Amino acid sequence: MRRVSIFGATGSIGQNTIDLIARNPEAYDVVALTGASNIKQLAADAIRLKADIAVTADEARLDDLRTALNGSGVEAAAGQAALTEAGCRPADWVMSAIVGAAGLAPGICALQQGATLALANKESLVCAGQLILSTAKTHNARLLPVDSEHSAVFQALVGEDMDAVERIIITASGGAFRDWPLEKLAQATLAEASSHPNWDMGQRITIDSASMFNKALELIETKEYFGVRPDQIEVLVHPESMIHAMVGFNDGALMAHVGPPDMRHAIGYALHWPDRKTLPVDRLDLAKISALTFRAPDEIRWPALRLAREVMERGGLAGAVFNAAKETALDGFIGGRIRFPTMAEVVEEVLSTTPPSHIDAPMTLDNVHAADQMARQATRDVIEQRAG
Ligand code: NDP
Repeated sequence: MRRVSIFGATGSIGQNTIDLIARNPEAYDVVALTGASNIKQLAADAIRLKADIAVTADEARLDDLRTALNGSGVEAAAGQAALTEAGCRPADWVMSAIVGAAGLAPGICALQQGATLALANKESLVCAGQLILSTAKTHNARLLPVDSEHSAVFQALVGEDMDAVERIIITASGGAFRDWPLEKLAQATLAEASSHPNWDMGQRITIDSASMFNKALELIETKEYFGVRPDQIEVLVHPESMIHAMVGFNDGALMAHVGPPDMRHAIGYALHWPDRKTLPVDRLDLAKISALTFRAPDEIRWPALRLAREVMERGGLAGAVFNAAKETALDGFIGGRIRFPTMAEVVEEVLSTTPPSHIDAPMTLDNVHAADQMARQATRDVIEQRAG
């Protein structure tokens, strides 16, 4: 039996992972499931999958979790330290699907145990790419991409030589506001930004898709994971979300990965890698789809893409600052304090005013945390100034 843990088990990726595991429960020994606010779901899944421990990130909900697990034999715990401790429990395969920088510490712990880390939490690579990769190398642990674009690139590279790779193209649906008039963006409501044309995902990544901050994070993720130069990575708007990524080789060939917009494909690929197993996803009928369309991204509409290129050029802890500013600006939009286009303006201001000492500090977990906290405070201050 494979020992598996799922971080962010109550979220969209977590629930899709559980869907796959629950189809074949005798193959898995579930070690830890984690969540934050959704105690009912966390407890129900922990009992159903006979997990050793269920952890909520929210200490105030520990009593609720204990009550929900009463008599089940599943251990209950809460808080950041408990999440990290759960990451340190021996497991063969760990899904990293917490949203935001909070996913970094448990992921590092899982790698230190030599586990295979299936990484949906792209923020980990954006904030601390070198640290994640060096930890995996030191502990002989494997890192597998779960983001659909990165899973697609990973699959297109099977058996290929990285020296023959000229470029990597990641596609973007364009999100909720792809075809909106630019001048209307300032009026975009939270409900409008939270609805995705193709994918069913958590609210934060859905809004990040509309602003392209999600694609901005993925640009940085591509550079870190595949070790390519920023100028080798392109974004292509592809409204149908059928081609997830393409790899261009030095003989002119483009290898495209085509699949339905269902995250269970990328999750299942990482779960069964290096094998392919039958997955419960739709099979595409390309004759019915008949046309796939593409267009270049507009960096006026989506300034996050330009900011990601600046972050990649600066390197160091610029990714941690960028991500923290982005997460805090997103909180500002969700909380009604700033308008949709203001998110990118705020992030740009924080990036341009961050002292170089924060960006150039060595990449340790403590320094990543310090850069993250500094950027969050700076972003809150910028939002205050603008709101006031
Ligand atoms: P969701 O918002 O649906 O789920 C997030 C999960 O993290 C939930 O289990 C949530 O708990 C938990 N959580 C929230 N805040 C914290 C915290 N501070 N500490 C610990 N746990 C926390 O997100 P998604 O599943 O959509 O995304 C998860 C990750 O996967 C993100 O990094 C996202 O970018 C990435 N991703 C998602 C894709 C998708 O299709 N959804 C596609 C590719 C990547 P609770 O719900 O109980 O509050």
